[in-house]
This record gives sequence, C-alpha cells and structure tokens, in this order.
Amino acid sequence: MHLILGGTFDPVHHGHLRMAVELRERLGVDRVALVPCHIPPHREQPGTRSEDRLALLKLAIAGEPGLTVDDRELNRQGPSFTAETLSQLRDELGPREPLAMVVGMDSFAGFHRWRDWRRIPELAHIIVVNRPGAELEPQSEPAQLLNQRKAAAINELHGRPAGLCLALDLPLLEISATGIRERIRSGRSPRYLLPDPVWQAIRDRGLYRDEV
Ligand code: ATP
Repeated sequence: MHLILGGTFDPVHHGHLRMAVELRERLGVDRVALVPCHIPPHREQPGTRSEDRLALLKLAIAGEPGLTVDDRELNRQGPSFTAETLSQLRDELGPREPLAMVVGMDSFAGFHRWRDWRRIPELAHIIVVNRPGAELEPQSEPAQLLNQRKAAAINELHGRPAGLCLALDLPLLEISATGIRERIRSGRSPRYLLPDPVWQAIRDRGLYRDEV
C-alpha cells in the first residue's frame, strides 16, 4: 500500500511526524510519504516559500527510513489539487496497488469543496484521523461519504486498490504550525515542538520572524 499525508507543513512539527509514525505502524506499511502542497486551494497561503518548507521537511525525516517526502506538488504550476496528485500516483502504481490518503477530520469536514472530490474515492482510500474539536455535520456530504464507504477494519484497505473510508483514532500531540509561527514571531521558543535541526534551520534562514 502507498500511503500519503498531505499538508502545508509550514513548518513541519512533531504532531505531523508522530502521526505519520503511528499511521505507518497501524496500517502496517513500510513507508508514509509526506506531500507538501505548493499552493493550497482551500486555506490561507503559506507565508513561507515552498523550497524552505521542503528543506525543513527533508531535515525532519533525515535518518528515518519509514518516512519520505514526495515533492511532486511543488513541481507543478498552480494550486495543488489532491485529485490530480492521486491521479498521477494511480498512473504510476497501476490499477491494483492500494493507495490511501490521510486527512485530519478538520480538513475532511470541507472535503466536498475540494476540486473533483467525487473522483478521490475512485483513486484512493481515505483515512480520516479524528482530531479533538473537529466533528462532521451528520447530514453533510463528507459524513455521507464516510458512512457509505466505511471500512469495517483496517485490513480491508489492503484488499482493494481504492474506495474505502476509515475513521481512525490515533494518539495525537497538541501541536499546530500556527502556534509555532506565533511563538517565533513573538520571540518565544518553539523548542521541543519540532525537531531541533528544523528549529536550527528556521533560525539560519530567518523564517517566521516578520510574518503579518
Ligand atoms: P496550521 O496550524 O498552519 O493550520 P497544521 O499544524 O494544522 O498547520 P498542516 O500542514 O495544515 O499543519 O497539516 C497537515 C496534516 O496534518 C493535516 O491533515 C492536519 O489535519 C494534520 N495535523 C496537523 N497537526 C497535527 C497534529 N498535531 N497531530 C496530528 N495531525 C496533525
């Protein structure tokens, strides 16, 4: 199974990294690919250049064979549409290999506003990670999708290439990139919220200091 975790990673932190490790173990896969987006269509634009976010990600996963970075969205022009990324991956993997994308419940609540969202379950499984405070409107389209395609157990995902939805509870760290950016901007330390080499590179590059 090929498993991807997309995000802005502005910057990557221990919340992302722990989630990726927990997922890798729960799903029983060799690797999780972190996919930084170039221009996120559904949220505020990252204040940091793609190449800086990518460099920080590479530092964060250095020496960890279970995590990789897939920078394909940074090499594409224009907004990063997940359907397009999954379609490229499907072409590369062939029709039979299971492909799964991971998304936090907070993002999944707006899934029906993603470009070509109905194509996504045709291309991949969707693993929705529960996050405190994030709930679905029971009648909403994402809630219906989750119900209609619900996998009874993790193992089912390995038996089909795409099409299932799985809501997963994982032990999560209460860390957000927003909180890290705010700390740096106001001169407080983000140490221990993210890997030390990432914090060092943020200082070397002078990132997040003068964001508005
Ligand atoms: P921001 O604070 O800028 O919104 P973020 O920390 O939420 O950023 P993103 O890059 O937007 O990070 O998140 C990428 C993915 O990781 C999303 O699916 C999001 O739900 C998930 N995620 C973010 N923070 C955590 C965390 N602490 N634990 C688990 N998952 C997280």
